[in-house]
Amino acid sequence: MEKKIAVLRGDGIGPEVVNESIKVLERVAQKFGHTFHYYDIIGGVAGLEAYGDALRPQDYELGRSCDSILFGSVGDPRKYTFTGANGTKKYPSRKEAAVKALASFRRGMELFANIRPAKVYPQLIQASPLKDTVARELDLIVLRENTAGIFYAGKYRKEIGGELTACDECVYTWSQIERHARCAFDLAMGRKKHVTMVNKPNAMETGVLWQTVYEKVAEEYPEVHYETMLIDGCAARLVSRPGYFDVIAAENMFGDILSDLANSAAGSMGIAGSGDIGSEGKGLYECAGGSAPDIAGQNIANPIAEILSAALMLRLSFHMTVEADAIEAAIVKVLDDGYRTGDIMTPGGKRLSCSDMGDAISEAI
Ligand code: NAD
Repeated sequence: MEKKIAVLRGDGIGPEVVNESIKVLERVAQKFGHTFHYYDIIGGVAGLEAYGDALRPQDYELGRSCDSILFGSVGDPRKYTFTGANGTKKYPSRKEAAVKALASFRRGMELFANIRPAKVYPQLIQASPLKDTVARELDLIVLRENTAGIFYAGKYRKEIGGELTACDECVYTWSQIERHARCAFDLAMGRKKHVTMVNKPNAMETGVLWQTVYEKVAEEYPEVHYETMLIDGCAARLVSRPGYFDVIAAENMFGDILSDLANSAAGSMGIAGSGDIGSEGKGLYECAGGSAPDIAGQNIANPIAEILSAALMLRLSFHMTVEADAIEAAIVKVLDDGYRTGDIMTPGGKRLSCSDMGDAISEAI
């Protein structure tokens, strides 16, 4: 099979971990007789520095025209503020911010389903901050809504009554929730048949609509155990009984927070892969963590999250199940052999750099 993959390495550890993913993809291509063509896009802070734009229109079109996008991470808090003409600090507008590179693809391509698996590898139980008995049960997916909600609706920052005031509206339509609900129930049908829809309907009007739509869709999936849970209660249960959950379905901001919580409970953001999927089958695949400026440029980041994201791309967008299984098995083999990056170091583990971990996983395929 031949596939076109747009590659946006981005900022911080983005280029380091994406390079290791491509190394693994090339090993898969060689072993299974595929050809992957890569098309580079410079975006995020790198794009702002190169072109004054976190994602140029022609680069958006290039990404959209490919079969999928392999994405590192964008943003650099060290460069988050600009100095205004009078020397005072000025915060960037959303159009100027690095996150535009990601948001443009998510919104423009309607990649509404952000699939974020979190599970504890038995070999990494000691890397989890949870007690062994609690951690070993953790195996869930957070399905985050990705194209609407508080991140995208009406916004302003202005002076009202002599006081600087900011506002972010949260807006959802019936159809946006309905497509998300179908995706959640379909995912659950292939797993433990349990959907927990997380929200705050006692305080938010959008929460009431989420509940109404989800209840309606749930009727079409009688085999799935469906329930709702308040966001605060869900956060508490994620650390006290993570094994309770199967598919956690959440609107944009709640899903963003819960998925990082679940992945950190699993041991590290460095093992958290994710995919943004739309109805066309194309996707954007990225490690769930950020650009990790604290460890960038040192060749010590964990590439497993980005490599798992590449495996997700093969599985979900290219329907290459055997190939995706081969990558995941190679990761398990490398962990079994005791190899670790610093973030998942366990007693007796053999420490590898980011690039050595990429080599080890490629060789294990
Ligand atoms: P972060 O995920 O970058 O880092 C949080 C912690 O996790 C850090 O200690 C970091 O070292 C560690 N970590 C993350 N990925 C790792 C990996 N692969 N291996 C080892 N350790 C890893 O979150 P942050 O510090 O809040 O954000 C840093 C920047 O990233 C910000 O500019 C933020 O806006 C951006 N960000 C981008 C994305 C994205 O592009 N999708 C997502 C989240 C944050």
